[in-house]
Amino acid sequence: MNDRRVTQISPNGTVTTRDDARPLTVAAGDAVIVERGCLRSLIVRCPCGCGDDLVINLDRRTGPAWRLYSRKSKLSLSPSYWRDSACECHFILWKNRIYWCGYYDNDYNDYSNPALEAGILPHVPKDDFVDYHVIAETLDEIPWDVLWCCRNMVNRGLLSEKAGKERGLFSRIS
Ligand SMILES: [Zn+2]
Repeated sequence: MNDRRVTQISPNGTVTTRDDARPLTVAAGDAVIVERGCLRSLIVRCPCGCGDDLVINLDRRTGPAWRLYSRKSKLSLSPSYWRDSACECHFILWKNRIYWCGYYDNDYNDYSNPALEAGILPHVPKDDFVDYHVIAETLDEIPWDVLWCCRNMVNRGLLSEKAGKERGLFSRIS
C-alpha cells in the first residue's frame, strides 16, 4: 500500500483524440473521456500515484470494454478496473470516488438506498438467480448501486447470493 493513492477522480472533460487528452491528465486521478462518434476510452492518470495514464477501453468493437456511467457529471465504471501489469492497481470507480479493492472484497462503503432496494426486490426471482447487472440494466441504474443494495438485502436475510465465481447472482428468500 502506498500513500500516494487518491480516493477521487477529477473529470477534466471530453476530447476527441488521445493526444488531446494528454495535457489534461497531470495529477493522480485526472480523468478525460475520449469520444469520437461514440465513447472510445476513459483516460485516467493512475489514482495509485505511479504516474502512468490508464487507457480504459469503452468501445466494445475493439475488444473487452468497460461501461461508463455519467450521472450528474459524476463518473462510474463497471466492472472494476484491474491493471494486470506495472502497478497492478485494482479499484472500483463509483460516482467519481475510488474504492481500492483488497482483502475485503465485500463492503466498500455503507451505501444504503431503501428506495432502490424496494425497486430491486420485484426483479429478483424466488426459484432462480438473477445477475445484478441485468437488474441494473432494467432499472437504468449504476450496477454498483444495485450490487450494494442486493448485498444489504442479503445481510438482512431477504436475498441469497451465490458464492465463488458465481458471486453477483441473487435469489429471493421470502
Ligand atoms: Zn498505478
